[in-house]
Amino acid sequence: MSKPRMAILGLGIMGAGMASRLLSAGFPVAVYNRNPDKAGPFSNAGALVAGSPREAASQAEIIISMVADDLASQSVWLGENGALAGAARGSLLIECSTLTVGWIKELSAAAMQRGCEFLDAPVTGTKPHAASGELLFLVGGSASALATAQPVLSVLGRETVHLGPTGSGALLKQAASFAEAVSLIEAGGLDRAKAEAVLTSGAPGSGIVKRAAASAAANDFTPNFRLRLMAKDLGYAIDEASHRGLQLQTASSALALFKQAIVKGHGDEDFSAVVKATQQK
Ligand code: NAP
Repeated sequence: MSKPRMAILGLGIMGAGMASRLLSAGFPVAVYNRNPDKAGPFSNAGALVAGSPREAASQAEIIISMVADDLASQSVWLGENGALAGAARGSLLIECSTLTVGWIKELSAAAMQRGCEFLDAPVTGTKPHAASGELLFLVGGSASALATAQPVLSVLGRETVHLGPTGSGALLKQAASFAEAVSLIEAGGLDRAKAEAVLTSGAPGSGIVKRAAASAAANDFTPNFRLRLMAKDLGYAIDEASHRGLQLQTASSALALFKQAIVKGHGDEDFSAVVKATQQK
């Protein structure tokens, strides 16, 4: 079976790894990035480097977006040069960025109006998982759209969980970000060795806490996941809960710490730099 023609919108930490992975697996790939300097190197690897999301989408049967936040997603999909304007009827749009449920639903409706299929498929995993095809996809959308996506998601990820209708992926992803951040913040004020032992081996243990603890111990905050994007995820989770009549008080405290770290200039470092910020006077 021939491989579907792909477009990847967004070549940041995650999108770059995903695009490389598809190119190594032999998929025809068109790429677009707002800052064209990040797209250039992909042409040596065989990608078509597009000048707009619209041009990238017009080349593809399956279009994946992996950008920072709602604003970035709106900017790659909408408008005269946006991907929706270039997407052919019957193509499949997959939004993998971590976004609000509200925007995901609007985007899904816009996709349907264009005669396209749509999945929201945010991920867990970070830079190395994106590059090695070991992401976990949290998917919302129809079973038939997921069946079309599966050959691609199997190359990019180790597992795909179909959670329900459009927006389900975004909702669970926000819950997951909240849990990750809470674990990290709990580690902040405690004896590090004891806290790490509990968090990495005990019931609340998770890969993300292990990696954060290792960055802090090595004093290396090269971003795998930028601190300002973790703050964005927490903000989305708090807003989502508030729309449903819930107050996430621990998440709000965590967000306040992340905001302090951004003010102190750590926004583009790894999110684990929040530990450093809490130690600074
Ligand atoms: P990143 O390295 O900061 O890259 C962000 C991407 O978004 C870049 O391609 C950037 O383009 C683009 N972008 C930002 N604002 C834009 C705008 N207004 N218009 C068009 N493009 C814009 O982020 P990342 O780590 O790859 O994260 C991507 C998504 O995955 C985010 O939603 C994040 O929450 C989620 N995520 C990340 C991780 C992780 O570990 N890194 C894990 C799970 C989920 P420029 O290059 O031009 O700035």
